[in-house]
Amino acid sequence: MQDSNDNELGLYVHVPFCSTTCDFCAFYQERPSKKGFEEYFLALEKDFQTHLPDRAFSTVFIGGGTPGILSDGQIDQLCALIHANGLKDECEWTVEVAPNEINPQKLEAFLRGGVNRLSLGVQTLDPVFMKELGRKHDVERAVKAYGEVRAAGFENVNLDLLFGAPGQTLENWKDDLRKVVDLGPDHVSTYCLTFEEDTALFAKLAKGQIKIDPEREAMFYEWAWEYLPNQGYSQYEVSNYARDGYECRHNLNTWGMNEWIGFGPSASSQYNQVRRKNFSNIEQWAKPLLLEESLEYEEYSELDNYDLARDAILFGLRMNRGINLNVISGKFRIPPDSFEGIHEFLELLEKECLAVFEDHQYFLTLEGRMRCDAIALEIPDLSSHSG
Ligand code: SF4
Repeated sequence: MQDSNDNELGLYVHVPFCSTTCDFCAFYQERPSKKGFEEYFLALEKDFQTHLPDRAFSTVFIGGGTPGILSDGQIDQLCALIHANGLKDECEWTVEVAPNEINPQKLEAFLRGGVNRLSLGVQTLDPVFMKELGRKHDVERAVKAYGEVRAAGFENVNLDLLFGAPGQTLENWKDDLRKVVDLGPDHVSTYCLTFEEDTALFAKLAKGQIKIDPEREAMFYEWAWEYLPNQGYSQYEVSNYARDGYECRHNLNTWGMNEWIGFGPSASSQYNQVRRKNFSNIEQWAKPLLLEESLEYEEYSELDNYDLARDAILFGLRMNRGINLNVISGKFRIPPDSFEGIHEFLELLEKECLAVFEDHQYFLTLEGRMRCDAIALEIPDLSSHSG
């Protein structure tokens, strides 16, 4: 499996426009408008000028919203902006697209701009659940879009899938995964449907029209963990699978607690020991940039190496290869005895059969992976913090 280099720098751009809102969606997005696009591009240019880093980017990820909503001219404009900020050779450059918003011209624009990895938000290939999720494309369109992406020449393609829709059975999920494998993507991401506040699905949940079923969700997880690796997609993180060499470098960089800078409304950054999040509102994000006023952020915190090391443990445990505490100690220049509490915690997980220690690595067992969110909440601070 590829590894992230500690010196890698990721670039994230948030394109905050969607023509409609999916029932499960809690991401920041707005309806597209001429005024919105103009303001967005003007402010994005300023955002780049203001937050220019001291080194070239190793990975780029354009997410949203739906970046595929941009016209081919706007895609050219966005890619030129990104190039102007310096990219390393061999840069991994991903863009997320929704099946109903792409066409050969847009795909060509992404390719000529330098994009070399396409992530297609298919979500499901089951017509009933496609409707249930409130997606605006149908199964036929999703399959056709995949064909168009391959025909355009993309050699690294991810399919995003959601499971746990109301009424979905294990057989439905198995069928979905089989169809996805038949398409032959290079990478598969599978996310369990969550019921975020302010979404249409949450409203149904609150009214008792649908129910959460953790046991069913656990079966869905287990099936994906077993099935996809048998089909040549190694699992490298709780929700992510890849053919050999196709792991997402951008995400590995983030999970390794290296650095990245996010541009656009609601984008997050971790750079120079600061973690911050831009305002999730175009006007609030754009105004101070355009008027050159002092900048404020929706969230802002200064981090030290102890915070970063703890987060590297948290995200590292979500990965199949797990963590090596000596490596984390060296990377963040933290004395090994600061990890005492962490060692005790991991040994406890081992006793409870939730983790295994092998070859200097701690990694979670199947049962541990199933409970990784709860485990993350329990990870203690490193000792200089607690004591
Ligand atoms: S396309 Fe993506 S960002 Fe837009 S509403 Fe649907 S899930 Fe949310």
